[in-house]
Amino acid sequence: MPTPAPTASIRFPSVDRVANHTRALALAKTFGRPAVIEAIRDELDERRTRLVGGFDGTAPASADEAQVIDGAQTRIERLFQPGLRPVFNMTGTVLHTNLGRAPMPQEAIDAIAAVATGASNLEFDLAAGVRGDRDDHVENLITRLTGAEAATVVNNNAAAVLLVLNALALKREVPVSRGELIEIGGSFRLPDIMARAGCKLCEVGTTNRTHLADFAAAINPRTALVMKAHTSNFIVQGFTATAPERALAALCRERGVPFVNDLGCGSLIDLAAYGLPQEPTVRSAIDNGADIVTFSGDKLLGGPQAGIIAGRADLIAKIKRSPLKRALRVDKMTMAALSAVLRLYLDPERLCARLPTLRLLTRSVDSIRACAARVQPVLAASLAGWATIAPINCASEIGSGSQPLEKLPSAGLSINPLAARGRGTALKRLSSAMRALPVPVIGRIENDLMVLDFRCVEDADALIAQLAHLSVPQ
Ligand SMILES: *Cc1c(COP(=O)(O)O)cnc(C)c1O
Repeated sequence: MPTPAPTASIRFPSVDRVANHTRALALAKTFGRPAVIEAIRDELDERRTRLVGGFDGTAPASADEAQVIDGAQTRIERLFQPGLRPVFNMTGTVLHTNLGRAPMPQEAIDAIAAVATGASNLEFDLAAGVRGDRDDHVENLITRLTGAEAATVVNNNAAAVLLVLNALALKREVPVSRGELIEIGGSFRLPDIMARAGCKLCEVGTTNRTHLADFAAAINPRTALVMKAHTSNFIVQGFTATAPERALAALCRERGVPFVNDLGCGSLIDLAAYGLPQEPTVRSAIDNGADIVTFSGDKLLGGPQAGIIAGRADLIAKIKRSPLKRALRVDKMTMAALSAVLRLYLDPERLCARLPTLRLLTRSVDSIRACAARVQPVLAASLAGWATIAPINCASEIGSGSQPLEKLPSAGLSINPLAARGRGTALKRLSSAMRALPVPVIGRIENDLMVLDFRCVEDADALIAQLAHLSVPQ
């Protein structure tokens, strides 16, 4: 007979017994008894399997009650921690899609709070006492700021493009330059969106050169509209040509087809006036003859995620009648935030101070450097004996496909692990320790160093409070 496995000699306490321990009772006060019972059960189950499978040299799980409660507490705290939480964006990319794009102004937060907790006039016309339209809360502002006749808002710009194509070009042809058949990232590829919208892409010109004559030849009675997409995230250089926007708009008008311009970022202000790289403004696109423009709410506009469709009143009315509009519409919180952000634009003189996206993009290198200098000694103390910290000049990006080649001079700190060997592993451990902080810190690895770009850090004290706890496992 084989000797019995040592598991047999370890007795685990019952779930009930652990649940009645004073510490478990205290946890139940905070998190509720069902969650505590479940966590204890899971913890005990895991310890039992570890014990059974523990002959490969791993330490056998302990059946000690206090340790079981420790494990259960970790499980509960993890369960109750929000999955979505703030991080420090030290990547140098201001509008970072994976990090939530535009930070919102306090005015938008207040506006969200004001409508989120109760009833609102989202679709109720208070003056007339009849049913209203949710777009009414922002349409006036959008038309005033862009020169468009009318506007509507959907979930994001991808939805805006989908809706426009579906509402205006279902089962019909849409000529697009081969140089503008873009992929924005993720699964937004213009040819795929066209297919899903139910329209027929009609490729025009070549990758590097598309002429007005190419469009003139492509427009026929089956053409629904002509589409232009802003090539926001790449640049074609060398022997290139595009059909001039005004001439293309005039051609469309002459042939009786709408001209749709997907701007993507769609700035509402002239960024060059702030010393930033130029982006086409929504107003300039309308002035150049676009019948419809589409752009994001959370890119350069600096607001909540949204897709804005602005342009000719008759086309907007048609777009709003589409059943897809209902499926793609935004909620009251987005409306409240978008309206608040748009109202900031009515006062251009204070815009830069109040709109975080613009404030971060225009921040002086001196102010960024001063912030880094305050944090440097704290970080150096936390990582003493493990890494050296040095001030650096670095380069930020606008992000979200805006001006991919233009860099904004910035400043920060580099972290240089002392380890002579295994630097790759050391940097990975460092990144992971920074991500494990209560407010995770996300930097970037560049030239075998960890680089922290301070452009998006306005509150040095909050960062210091995090980094003071940083410790990297050896
Ligand atoms: C970003 C972008 C989109 C997609 O916008 P989302 O708001 O991310 O949905 C579409 N077209 C262009 C040109 C873009 O730059």
